[in-house]
Amino acid sequence: MSDAVMMEHDELWDKLNEECGVFGVFNHPDAPQLSYYGLHALQHRGQESAGICASDGEKFSYHRGMGLVTEAFNGNQLSKIHGRMAIGHVRYTTAGESKLENAQPLVFKYTGGNLALAHNGNLVNAEQIRHQLERQGSIFQTTSDTEVIAHLIARSGYEIEQAVRESLRMIKGAYALLLMTENKMIIALDPNGLRPLVLGRLDEGYVVASETCAFETVGAEYIRDVEPGEMIVIDEKGLRSERFAGQTQRAICSFEYIYFARPDSDIDGINVHLARKEMGRQLYKESAIEADVVTGVPDSSISAAIGYAEAAGLPYELGLVKNRYVGRTFIQPNQEMRARGVRMKLSAVRKVVEGKRVVMIDDSIVRGTTSGRIVRMLREAGAKEVHVRISSPPVKNPCFYGIDTSSREELIASEKSIEQIREYIGADSLAFLSEKGMIDAIGRNDTAPNRGHCLACFTGCYPTEIYEDTKNCVEK
Ligand code: SF4
Repeated sequence: MSDAVMMEHDELWDKLNEECGVFGVFNHPDAPQLSYYGLHALQHRGQESAGICASDGEKFSYHRGMGLVTEAFNGNQLSKIHGRMAIGHVRYTTAGESKLENAQPLVFKYTGGNLALAHNGNLVNAEQIRHQLERQGSIFQTTSDTEVIAHLIARSGYEIEQAVRESLRMIKGAYALLLMTENKMIIALDPNGLRPLVLGRLDEGYVVASETCAFETVGAEYIRDVEPGEMIVIDEKGLRSERFAGQTQRAICSFEYIYFARPDSDIDGINVHLARKEMGRQLYKESAIEADVVTGVPDSSISAAIGYAEAAGLPYELGLVKNRYVGRTFIQPNQEMRARGVRMKLSAVRKVVEGKRVVMIDDSIVRGTTSGRIVRMLREAGAKEVHVRISSPPVKNPCFYGIDTSSREELIASEKSIEQIREYIGADSLAFLSEKGMIDAIGRNDTAPNRGHCLACFTGCYPTEIYEDTKNCVEK
């Protein structure tokens, strides 16, 4: 897929994009096949490339390809991957990095043997480490920050567990990481636990995944969420857990609950659909409006719309319908074609909205491009009034943890007031969920700041150091 196509696609949907999903299996005869199904369940986390690497105890076999899991594995590639242990990865990348070399798992040979890595998240000090290593003679094969981790491990000179431990202490940012040698799997989560990662059991073996929905697909039993700053080693001696980080403080990405994760997944025991529904209920409490009908922008806003409608005592209706079969590579070369692109993806149901005062629930506004088109679509279908309610706070700051936000200037809420955004999208009224309302609605039982959420794209307060010219109020 070309970069140009990817950019147009993103602009059309006006959503933040998750960068990756990971899945691993230890000790199962069908490890590569299970990884395939697991990645399929995590497809929403990345559609640009997919890969699986397996070990038979002595050597690796692997395949990586561009596109959806079914496109990357569109022939007999899976039948050539063998072993009782496997890790897999689905990736979404920002424009400019869309190439096969960056597809994961990354596979390396070093003096200690073979090493495969699958990483979800983004390191904030990858550039600094890369430059330092390059000055010392390292040659990088990819532009992926995951390779930095591989180089640190390879150069450490320690045996693998100590090498990983030492390397993890040097990297900063977000990482849900799966590493594999010929006979060992190592799982690690960053000290803030910015990305979700769960551990499960399947027959005599273990599985690990970005989200619990993948466990349902492969028939695995959930054990627990991986803890921030935790490193888990699984080998023939069993499973061992340790803390590699002295200080840990959960700051799970709020957008996992708002938009990224699948509604049937649980994060730290909280079901994503129910959390979204509660956000909708809270949104009504904070910004009720006289209306006749409530509708949600499919698919991710439907749970919040149901919650809002329940709290308001109004009917939830299917006022907008999504066409699931518009290809990912659909190109919209100019403004007019882009507007038409939204119509190909979404239609208003005239009989539902005609003559009605409609509350339209969306989970977020990033650049504001799509919201205006949807409001117009509802009006053209006869809606008397369109009241937009957003089930998250305004996104004002970029993300450095692996989410494709735009630069600050492109984020509509960083430049405009809520009233200016309302005017821009042409709504009769507009309201966002408050930060406190969102935190209460999700209902995490956590003593960490912000009850264990990262709120940086709303507040500008990043939970880690960042190496950018950006306000950094590291939360203590
Ligand atoms: S900055 Fe926003 S998108 Fe990025 S990890 Fe934090 S909450 Fe998630």
